[in-house]
Amino acid sequence: VTTLSSTTIEARCSALVAQMRDDAIDRLVVGPGSDLRYLTGYDAPALERPTLLVVDVERPPLLLLPELEVLRARAHLAPGVVELHPYREGADPFEVLARARPVAPGRTIALGDQLWSAFALALQERAPGGRWVAGSPVMAGLRSRKDPTEIAALAAVGAAIDHVHAQVASHLVPGRSEREVARVLDGLIRTTHDAVSFVIVAAGPNAASPHHEPGERLLERGDAVVVDIGGTLDGYCSDMTRTYHLGPPSARFAAAYDALEQAQAAATAAVVPGATTGDIDAAARTILTDAGLGPAFVHRTGHGIGLDTHEAPWIVEGGTTVLEPGMTFSIEPGFYLEGLTGARIEDIVAVTASGVRPLNLRPRALEVV
Ligand code: ZN
Ligand code: ZN
Ligand code: ZN
Repeated sequence: VTTLSSTTIEARCSALVAQMRDDAIDRLVVGPGSDLRYLTGYDAPALERPTLLVVDVERPPLLLLPELEVLRARAHLAPGVVELHPYREGADPFEVLARARPVAPGRTIALGDQLWSAFALALQERAPGGRWVAGSPVMAGLRSRKDPTEIAALAAVGAAIDHVHAQVASHLVPGRSEREVARVLDGLIRTTHDAVSFVIVAAGPNAASPHHEPGERLLERGDAVVVDIGGTLDGYCSDMTRTYHLGPPSARFAAAYDALEQAQAAATAAVVPGATTGDIDAAARTILTDAGLGPAFVHRTGHGIGLDTHEAPWIVEGGTTVLEPGMTFSIEPGFYLEGLTGARIEDIVAVTASGVRPLNLRPRALEVV
């Protein structure tokens, strides 16, 4: 659990308020989750007793929370910036909030993406005549431009997952099931991260399913094995894919993989401030399309990463978001041939002042085991 300094909380909350003023938003409410962690450093439990951060443009940020969690919140939260507003067990938290921070009718209230709908409905009931908007545009704008501390955290967790991938090949033994391999990788991730986020081991025809759940299939010679793994370290996420091959690949697979490697390299080379997310997607997609693999590339080229594994910016076909220094995202083209095979190469990159900095450094060539 990382605790942000008072200075950082202050800076992030005032950047938020400035953005809210620009967007004519009077209040933002976020629940437990990555928005709350980003703004305050507090990793609150997401339970039926609401914990809500209420940011009004005219007043200091307020954290509504159950009285029994005050000591926990104080342990996480640097003092001085966020006003703690506990409610007693049995009290109606939304009534308590309405009294502490009444909202005039006609105000624009933004709600965080991860706020439970039950809480959103209760808030709406207490503020009739409010104009309700999504909080994601304002939060995504702030969170997608990482500061140097966040880039350092992503580089550290990137190195941690590189270290796990360096050991994967030795565990891909014919006769072992995907699930057995996944269990081993789970343990390896734990040794270098605080927690495991996900483990995908997809062998043979299962490699055609990008989010395959590891199962009973036994690894066989001749399989491509897609290994996509991620965890968290100091709150920040890793997400990295390499494709391994048990024994030499067919000429057809080798040619397709070659195009994939070129596509991934071209998309990475296209990363520069001022380029759009659509430019990055096109750099990868054009190469795969020219190789006849366009229809087999069934997903976007990448996604932002930070406190969440998947967050803005989205590296999509036709995307218009302009890249800025500090943005971090995955570049993960793939090809998926149902019933046959598949492959993906995924690294995290950061946009620098003049170009790109890869945060995963393992070789990208097909690793023949
Ligand atoms: Zn994915
Ligand atoms: Zn990813
Ligand atoms: Zn991934």
